[in-house]
Amino acid sequence: MSAPVVSPWKQFQTKKEAYLAYANPWEKKIGSFLSFRPETPAPATPGPLAGLPFGVKDNIAVEGFPLTCGSKMLANVISPYDATVVARLKAAGAVVIGKTNLDEFGMGSSTDNSALGVTHNPWDITRVPGGSSGGSAAAVAAGLVPFALGTDTGGSVRQPASFCGVYGFKPTYGVLSRYGLTAYASSLECPGILSADLALVQSVFEAARGRDLNDQTSLDYEPQAPRPVKTIAVLGDLSDLHPDVRAVYDQTLGHLKALGYTLLTVNLPSLEFAVPAYYTIATAEASANLARFNGIRYGHRPVYSENHEDLVRKSRTEGFGNEVKTRIMLGTYVLRSGFQDQYYTKAQKVRTLIRRDLQKVFDQADLLLSPTFPTPAFVHGDQTMTEFQQKLADKSTVTANLAGVPALSFPAGLSSGLPIGMQLTAPAFGEPRLFEVAAQFATRVPVVPCPGTSLDWSK
Ligand code: GLN
Repeated sequence: MSAPVVSPWKQFQTKKEAYLAYANPWEKKIGSFLSFRPETPAPATPGPLAGLPFGVKDNIAVEGFPLTCGSKMLANVISPYDATVVARLKAAGAVVIGKTNLDEFGMGSSTDNSALGVTHNPWDITRVPGGSSGGSAAAVAAGLVPFALGTDTGGSVRQPASFCGVYGFKPTYGVLSRYGLTAYASSLECPGILSADLALVQSVFEAARGRDLNDQTSLDYEPQAPRPVKTIAVLGDLSDLHPDVRAVYDQTLGHLKALGYTLLTVNLPSLEFAVPAYYTIATAEASANLARFNGIRYGHRPVYSENHEDLVRKSRTEGFGNEVKTRIMLGTYVLRSGFQDQYYTKAQKVRTLIRRDLQKVFDQADLLLSPTFPTPAFVHGDQTMTEFQQKLADKSTVTANLAGVPALSFPAGLSSGLPIGMQLTAPAFGEPRLFEVAAQFATRVPVVPCPGTSLDWSK
């Protein structure tokens, strides 16, 4: 599919001192890693990714590294095994040099919900890198790694990619194994890839994908027969966009037209219910998935407890942050006996409607374009971006997770000095279309590196 990657990063091992002189000051400034081990030697594994260092979101298992999920609950856990995607990338020659910061268990859009560290956006350190894979996006944008893994449950790879000016790719559900990914909302999430280099995103995807017997929901990749993309759907009703996002969105439409694509205005009537459906399903699944963290088998142990019940209560009270507790309670609420029809079942029906609405769009168009997120990177603690506002703003990204289809956020330009990402969504197994259009777009609007960064270690 894509040419083998010939990257200056191949010099990573031989120019380690130059790398550290560059990386350490940056990392001090942005705090993208929870554990950072750039001295890790690369094994002499030949392969398409030989010698390439990468970062892994700290909710994906890497043998010998912590697996904290950004939570006090798991602050002391060291993983005894590799997630399947990590094992496959290692087998292709890549080397993990650290675990990146995230919103606790992947719950959030800023990385400010991490209990273990603060991450800043390399473009402007007063701003958030986005989330929940904010550490991965910041590390890539600062040139600390050529690519990083994140997880995307409702936009957590695409939104931080948009905030940090890099590509963020979420594949078709099942194509990247979830084995070794700490579950938050199993039916929605999957690993994703962040990089400033589109060809590298494809090479990493190629090396990591495919059926895995450890994940019963995993699939072999069956890309749709390539056909040139002609028509791109755009949404008729796009209100509530920040002016900077609106400006870049309008420019993007102009570029796509100039590239010869036909733009077709469509409506997704179910879109207004996407966020409530997502948060009903995601919290329901979270309340079940996080039940295992009780201080007995896993997790934080209180210093003293009276009995078993007291131990579990204290473990969870002390170990989880507020956002996680809110979601566990919400999830328990929507699942409580006698009320499932009112919330959970209804949300599943909306999920089906969304899938059908999207299918109708893909009957008429090859791809769907939208802004990734309605705002640029916001300032830490911005009072207008409350937890609630952040959830409403997940509108464009959650649809791909609800429908299980692939989506890519690509850097579409700068506005007021900050990068803005746009998102392409494809039908299941339509990944080649995403890469094709993003590559065409980059011929008109090349990716702008974050000021003061370098990806080139050959000098
Ligand atoms: N912002 C969304 C949430 O908080 C998405 C998170 C994610 O994709 N992990 O659930």
